[in-house]
Amino acid sequence: MSTSSSLHTWFEVKTDSDFSIYNLPFGIYSDAQVKHHVCSAIGDSIIDLFELESADVFDLNRTVFDKNYLNDFIELGKPITHKVRLKLQELLCNANSILKTNANLSKAVFKKQSDVTLLMPIKIGDYTDFYSSIDHATNVGTMFRDPANALLPNWKHLPVGYHGRASSICVSGHSFHRPKGQQKPADAELPVFGPCKLLDFELETAFIIGKSTNMGDTLSTAQADEHIFGMVLFNDWSARDIQTWEYVPLGPFLAKNFASTISPWVVTLEALEPFHVKGYEQHPVLLPYLHYSGEKNIDINLQVAIQPLGAMPSVVCTSNYKYMYYTMEQQLAHHTVNGCNINVGDMMASGTISGPQPNAYGSMLELSWKGTKPLTLADGSERRFINDGDTVIMTGYCERDGKRVGFGSCAATVLPAK
Ligand code: MN
Repeated sequence: MSTSSSLHTWFEVKTDSDFSIYNLPFGIYSDAQVKHHVCSAIGDSIIDLFELESADVFDLNRTVFDKNYLNDFIELGKPITHKVRLKLQELLCNANSILKTNANLSKAVFKKQSDVTLLMPIKIGDYTDFYSSIDHATNVGTMFRDPANALLPNWKHLPVGYHGRASSICVSGHSFHRPKGQQKPADAELPVFGPCKLLDFELETAFIIGKSTNMGDTLSTAQADEHIFGMVLFNDWSARDIQTWEYVPLGPFLAKNFASTISPWVVTLEALEPFHVKGYEQHPVLLPYLHYSGEKNIDINLQVAIQPLGAMPSVVCTSNYKYMYYTMEQQLAHHTVNGCNINVGDMMASGTISGPQPNAYGSMLELSWKGTKPLTLADGSERRFINDGDTVIMTGYCERDGKRVGFGSCAATVLPAK
């Protein structure tokens, strides 16, 4: 699908829908009848691919669509999964297609998205979090270290990252208890134990590995896209007071692994292709294995809203994925440069995505500048960090030449500490 081609579907899709004919993401759903089927989305509806394959349109063994997770489908490889997406596009554009003309099939295949439950789409293997937004790293370095030397010496030479934990990554719509842990108040001599007082979100995206490598293999930036299936929105929930005390010298641990939230739809790399833009100039010049060619940043509009219990949501951050300093291809080339193998279902998150403007900062730490500048929400209440009862809602979409491809929403609610 080229940027210039325009498609017309016979299915009704509102112009501001995240799920246009250009998107067709993949997910897993359940409802009263269905335990777990692979699905796609168009407009306000989901498309049950297991039911659709009863008509043998993809020429696949349909059991691959009757799974808890997308992993087996993804494992078929891009030559097949990409063909499935293009075939779906064709069926939704051709007014004489079986999907349009066969009423029984259509009735089994289409369901209102609001009538189903979207499940965790991926059985996540290993999870890595990067730290690749220059505005975020500069803000954090300015707050906690030296404003004149905000970036540590390695930052402009490699995409900094750490290995996280996959067990507590949940799909949008969940809630979790405020974490407890050790904190050391600045004026105290000894640490104290209790509920985190500085609970934060981190606005991120994550990419999902679609093709494995063997130990010892390395991927070039040019090979990386072949191994990336697609992207989701990602909230890397963070306990700032626990983090400040524990992170020396090995980095984040319990401040991060109590919960993370992802959006339920995996948007394919192919659907995002038309929205590529040029990234930041990278100076000093990087080592050759991190060089890449072409426009590899993506213009994804990102937003974060806080919804207090029983109140309307207030938008607190408007950022964009195009502000990333390192691309996904560079991150994956770096991740594998030592021979570290990757597996289908691994998830690699971007790091907090802040932009240059203060309203584009991707965490409360930055938005409230370490709690010194509280934000006022629509209900009049103030936030320095996240309160019990708050729901944090992240959304993201690309839009160009009247074409819109979005992620839906990535939301989770904070319950009081247990
Ligand atoms: Mn993070």
